[in-house]
Amino acid sequence: QAKVDGRNCSRFFNDGMNRVAQERVALESALREALGDGQLCLHYQPQMFCGEGRPLYGVEALARWHHPRFGNVSPERFIPLAEECGLIGAFGEWALTEACRQLADWRSRGIAVPRVAVNLSAQNFQDVGLAVRVAACLRSYGLSPDSLTLEMTERAMLDSAEGVQTSIHAVHSLGVHLSLDDFGTGYSSLSYLHRLPMKELKLDKSFVQDLDDSPAARSLIQSVMHIGEGLGLTVVAEGVETQSQFDFLHDRSCAVVQGYLFARPMPAEQLERWLDERYPPRRSGTGAGVLGL
Ligand code: C2E
Ligand code: MG
Ligand code: MG
Ligand code: MG
Repeated sequence: QAKVDGRNCSRFFNDGMNRVAQERVALESALREALGDGQLCLHYQPQMFCGEGRPLYGVEALARWHHPRFGNVSPERFIPLAEECGLIGAFGEWALTEACRQLADWRSRGIAVPRVAVNLSAQNFQDVGLAVRVAACLRSYGLSPDSLTLEMTERAMLDSAEGVQTSIHAVHSLGVHLSLDDFGTGYSSLSYLHRLPMKELKLDKSFVQDLDDSPAARSLIQSVMHIGEGLGLTVVAEGVETQSQFDFLHDRSCAVVQGYLFARPMPAEQLERWLDERYPPRRSGTGAGVLGL
């Protein structure tokens, strides 16, 4: 019997435990290590305005974990694990700090990234210290609050835990933007949407992907556009993969698009090269970018 260490999720291997459960235990303990080990990083996916020239709206930070033995582990797998074993607080703090550090670094080098969006879990919003931490992080990197967007799911938004509602309002008071991720997949309550200080709606990629074949998806998307417009929210369509999907969204005056059609999430250095090619003279002052040197 091997005990896997951990404050909140000590488990024991035993004969009854199946392989899947054993793998899970191993993964939990690996994730704990990864947080202190630099195995985690953020990739960044550009988000663009739909209009002429498609100016850059911002980038979404997406966590990546490369484990020396398990290889690449998907966030779809390790985020729920982190939530279950009490690591999501530390994880959220890491993601927030790393995204702010990177944005400040880009700006110090004249790379114009208007904002970065960080995904947070419902549990991160339950933390009543969230807004204070966010404010401290912005301050320490010299970033204005509107440089940061925090993405939350409907589940987080509807969480009745007092801390969540407090955090949402406190973060909004700082001037940080709030975005409702995966819109349409959860328990969307339109009355909540109206009462909470959301800035942005992210149309879930499942609707965008069904768009070509499903009239229902198309009418749902139109409805979301109307809701967004009526509430003064920026609608971001995620998972745009084809030109016909883009054309549909563009024709319906979707504000912002994000998806493989434009770019995949990429490491910071690769994003810099992408920006350089896509938006040629991006540096001001140094002249280096303008001269293409
Ligand atoms: P999400 O926030 O809804 O992110 C969008 C997901 O769609 C990302 O998957 C992205 O890589 C993927 N994607 C983007 N464009 C396309 C496209 O054109 N086609 C398709 N098929 N997919 C596209 P990823 O990176 O695997 O992340 C999955 C989920 O994990 C995220 O969904 C988010 O809920 C969660 N996640 C990722 N990073 C973090 C993090 O730092 N903290 C927390 N709490 N959750 C995170
Ligand atoms: Mg997201
Ligand atoms: Mg999403
Ligand atoms: Mg998602």
